[in-house]
Amino acid sequence: MSSGEIDTLISHISKLPGIGQRLASKIAIHLLRRKELVMAQLMKTMNSVYENSKICQICNNIDTSSPCFICEDPKRDDEILCVVCDISDLWSIERAGFFSGKYHVLGGKLSAVMGVKPADLDVFGLYNRLKSGAIKEVIMAMSADIDGQTTMLFANEKIKDLNINITTLSHGVPIGGELENLDDGTIIAAFNQRRNV
Ligand SMILES: [Zn+2]
Repeated sequence: MSSGEIDTLISHISKLPGIGQRLASKIAIHLLRRKELVMAQLMKTMNSVYENSKICQICNNIDTSSPCFICEDPKRDDEILCVVCDISDLWSIERAGFFSGKYHVLGGKLSAVMGVKPADLDVFGLYNRLKSGAIKEVIMAMSADIDGQTTMLFANEKIKDLNINITTLSHGVPIGGELENLDDGTIIAAFNQRRNV
């Protein structure tokens, strides 16, 4: 096959989410064949993102600035806050391009199997934002599986004394798995048909 260094490259690529050994080899060959065009550009971008990316101190999104571009955007609605488990959920909702409020990323989903505990979630930050801010509606955008719903109940419990309107995504649409696996239309429908908790 190839020398040790290239094997190491393939091994690193194969450990990325959703990429096995076969696809890793394919990607490595693509990079090697187009060293200047693809590999050099990728390295440049990765270096720069590595240097500049940070977690937003307000919402826990990852961006090259903190506060992130969403928290800083004056055109976004400060009165609606969408609470998600992971950054991937935030990015999926953003990709769908319809939501004009702001976000709060809890940083995980409660799970006995994965060992995610209440202390791992940024509910404290959420509570403080709600307490001090002008937020009128909180949308709990969690998946319909047990872990997602457990996380939602836990977050609801923590903020319910603030008496802010809490809504949840409609489950009339198939929100079976993760938000990131849903197409944009399904995400938009789930938001439009949200209901009070
Ligand atoms: Zn932010």
